[in-house]
Amino acid sequence: SREIHLLEYLKGDPKPENYKLAEADVPAPGEGEVTVKNHYISVDPYMRGRMSGIRTYVGPFELGKVMEGGAVGEVVESNYEGLKPGDFVNSMFGWREAYTAPGKALQKIDTSVLPPQSYLGIAGLTGLTAYVGIKRIIDLQEGETMWMSAGAGAVGSAGIQFAKAMGATVIATAGGPEKCDFVKSIGADAVVDYKAADNLTAAIQDAAPKGIDGYFENVGGTHFTAALNTLKPKGRIAACGMIQRYNDAQPATITDNLTFIVGKSLKIQGFIVTDHADMMDGFVRDLSAWMAAGKIKPAETVIEGIENAPDAFMGLFSGRNTGKMLVKI
Ligand code: NDP
Repeated sequence: SREIHLLEYLKGDPKPENYKLAEADVPAPGEGEVTVKNHYISVDPYMRGRMSGIRTYVGPFELGKVMEGGAVGEVVESNYEGLKPGDFVNSMFGWREAYTAPGKALQKIDTSVLPPQSYLGIAGLTGLTAYVGIKRIIDLQEGETMWMSAGAGAVGSAGIQFAKAMGATVIATAGGPEKCDFVKSIGADAVVDYKAADNLTAAIQDAAPKGIDGYFENVGGTHFTAALNTLKPKGRIAACGMIQRYNDAQPATITDNLTFIVGKSLKIQGFIVTDHADMMDGFVRDLSAWMAAGKIKPAETVIEGIENAPDAFMGLFSGRNTGKMLVKI
């Protein structure tokens, strides 16, 4: 079976030579173990932090070993009573075609309603991230206006649809005309192409003339500055990610309009989705109801082949994906 290793810790942009395609044996399952053939693996922006060799909220990847990460696959052989061949499982066993692992380390998924890869996207941690940010951190109310940044991405496209389903007005930012059309097609009330905007603050004010109550931060930098400028008094920011900064080799300078935090009594809170696992049940209930009502369209970009996983990952930073970026094995 083939798998991807990280060869060195990164400074600046990720490059193909930082990764290696390697061969590994997949042993027959021992007592309590199963062998799984992966169908899809997830590549996510947070993995960039794990490639830096420093500890953030998760430790770094180990060099010369398979990279960990979300993956869904099919059980092909089982010595574990909770799983049988043909079952689908979600794991964190990462960027590889197949593996053998203890059955209890795997989460069985129900593929009768949703396809397996949805558990890496809208029905998985990606969807939960959008849900936590909107519902708990921003505490978005019906009739309020939210700005979703990176609106055509995985978390962004999920969050736009959730916020609409909750009765809010949603404006979104995305890069380029095609992505803006997509963002509109999933329900955003207004969209700004941030790549075409000379002045992001002015463009957001045009899109949301009455101001914004909540800002869902996925980008950082100039987007954050524009959010501080355009939020209403008592506005809330869910700081989910700041992808504009992940490849910076030097620490970034800070925005100079921070006094708005005081003057407008803004509330800003960062969060890590795994600290909010208590919201999973409520999320599944709401998502199921919204899906049954036809309010949700999952969106994915699929790149084929484990050998192309580094390329898919690097594509997150140039915006190659619309919806969740996945690698099909
Ligand atoms: P996305 O699917 O949104 O992919 C990344 C997107 O970000 C790209 O498609 C691109 O869209 C945009 N982007 C990339 N570079 C820049 C840039 N320099 N400036 C502006 N936009 C840029 O990824 P995810 O949905 O998985 O993640 C979105 C954010 O959420 C990330 O910041 C991530 O780190 C964070 N996250 C946080 C979690 C948490 O627990 N806090 C959990 C999961 C994700 P475009 O073409 O429009 O530029």
